[in-house]
Amino acid sequence: MTQIAFIGLGNMGGPMARNLLKHNQHVTVFDLMPEAVDALVAAGAHKAGSPQEAVAGADIVVTMLPAAAHVKSLYLGEDGLLAHVDKSALLIDCSTIDAQSAIAVGEQAKQAGIAFIDAPVSGGVGGAAAGTLTFIMGCKEADVERARPVLSMMGANLFRAGDLGAGQIAKVCNNMLLSVLMAGTSEALQLAIANGLDPKVMSDIMLQSSGCNWTLQKYNPCPGVMDNVPSSNDYQGGFMVKLMNKDLTLAMDTAAQVGAATPMASAAQALYRLHQGQSNNADKDFSSIFNLFARD
Ligand code: NAD
Repeated sequence: MTQIAFIGLGNMGGPMARNLLKHNQHVTVFDLMPEAVDALVAAGAHKAGSPQEAVAGADIVVTMLPAAAHVKSLYLGEDGLLAHVDKSALLIDCSTIDAQSAIAVGEQAKQAGIAFIDAPVSGGVGGAAAGTLTFIMGCKEADVERARPVLSMMGANLFRAGDLGAGQIAKVCNNMLLSVLMAGTSEALQLAIANGLDPKVMSDIMLQSSGCNWTLQKYNPCPGVMDNVPSSNDYQGGFMVKLMNKDLTLAMDTAAQVGAATPMASAAQALYRLHQGQSNNADKDFSSIFNLFARD
């Protein structure tokens, strides 16, 4: 049976690993937070006391960590995972990080004779729980087929954007657009509310009109309009404001490298930074940007 190691069991990694267990896979888990590990062990996972222990004998390693610094320190260095995994293992990093870091880790893996792919995801915590994520891979064609069986248990759409690092470029472009859509949708809903309209009615109108977009369909930012989204749970448990700011920094760096103008993303970055700087917003879901546009 395929042995899968899963490291990083947060808002996304937790439900992703659960879906592997639902498919009766042998999954060994590790996270710095013991309670995250315990929750997965209760669902049938095997517990590892360290990342090195988690990957021992693994055929597939999946990592889902906050940022590039976490990914590089986990994989690289004397005691990094590259020094501990079997040469035949396939390493799949699903974290959203900069393409250069993904390429750096992938190149070192290649030198050690190990396959590594960047496979960031889209679909949010809802998609992670439902197993309908979109995986955006950067790798050789052949590695897509190696990754397909395991990724198909966690996602509905698998794309290869190009070679190593291309998955991260595509993901950053997508999230740059998402940041703009969420801010724009919040602005429109708050304008309607300030003029006495019901946000649920306004949302229904836009869903059938030219303003329709993913945030209205899957992730309405106004509390009470939609069930089972972070806005109806005090903006807890989704995609944190600080992670959106990380992705906007990645987008701006990516744009700077090719001299691209990204004025919409610049505006969004200013808004999300302003929002994060206000009372305890960093760990809230990014749809809480809705509150920035509220009128007293
Ligand atoms: P999170 O902060 O909820 O989870 C990250 C987990 O990684 C935490 O449980 C943390 O303890 C663990 N971790 C950190 N360093 C570790 C290490 N060295 N070893 C083991 N565990 C470690 O973040 P998340 O929302 O799950 O996001 C993870 C990644 O996915 C980020 O790169 C994010 O940008 C991306 N992403 C998130 C969403 C979303 O909706 N939340 C959607 C798409 C992509």
